[in-house]
Amino acid sequence: MCRHLAYLGAPVRLAELLFDPPHALVRQSWAPREMRGGGTVNADGFGVGWYPGAGQDPVRYRRDRPMWSDAGLAQLAAVTTATGMLAAVRSATVGMPLVETAVAPFAAGRWLFSHNGVIAGWPDSVLKLAERLPVRDLLTVDAPTDSALIWAMIRDRLRAGATAPAALAETAVRVAAAAPGSRLNLLLTDGEIAAATTVGHSLWARRDDAAVLLSSEPLDGEPAWTPLPDGHLIVATGAALDVIALPDGGQPQ
Ligand code: GLN
Repeated sequence: MCRHLAYLGAPVRLAELLFDPPHALVRQSWAPREMRGGGTVNADGFGVGWYPGAGQDPVRYRRDRPMWSDAGLAQLAAVTTATGMLAAVRSATVGMPLVETAVAPFAAGRWLFSHNGVIAGWPDSVLKLAERLPVRDLLTVDAPTDSALIWAMIRDRLRAGATAPAALAETAVRVAAAAPGSRLNLLLTDGEIAAATTVGHSLWARRDDAAVLLSSEPLDGEPAWTPLPDGHLIVATGAALDVIALPDGGQPQ
């Protein structure tokens, strides 16, 4: 069910993450290895958001078709470099629309966001969460999906001054309390910091002096990939990778 990745570090060609490695994101779109909770391929759309350079707002390219079918993306990725990136391939949850606006990354200003998972019992389970959102967030929701609602909740927290890790952790815990059994692998970056949660799906990290990568699945067989434990908040910057337990592992007891 969806695969996503975030990169921060030295300038990299987009293709070095999306197309070139043996298990690059494009391969994960048709041959993922660690799918949980249903779904076999991630063919319902893809998106890439990247930071052309330090301090610059991201550029976003997303489509409602399989990543492997977009020849233009391969050409673009071969010549475009970035110092930060968030990319995703989508396997739509049953009942949710197959539209471009439902595909991650969701974007606002310098922020890029992705959700791998599902809110259990959608939509009834989350009506109360939606009721608490300001009308402006409801009116500007990208699509009628669980992921877009989570993004609206996170935007609300960021606007209120929360840091990226706090916005992610609070939202994951709140959604899990309203809809127990949800899968909430969230991923948020501003090109300087990447925050993620692991609730119900796989996530791996790879870090060296030049860069940090968070990815649903390792892009290659290098031993540097570390699996991240479930029920945690991950905070990655150029300098550090922190792994912090979520209250109750992100699920109500
Ligand atoms: N529920 C979200 C959607 O339908 C994400 C799905 C996923 O992680 N596969 O877009």
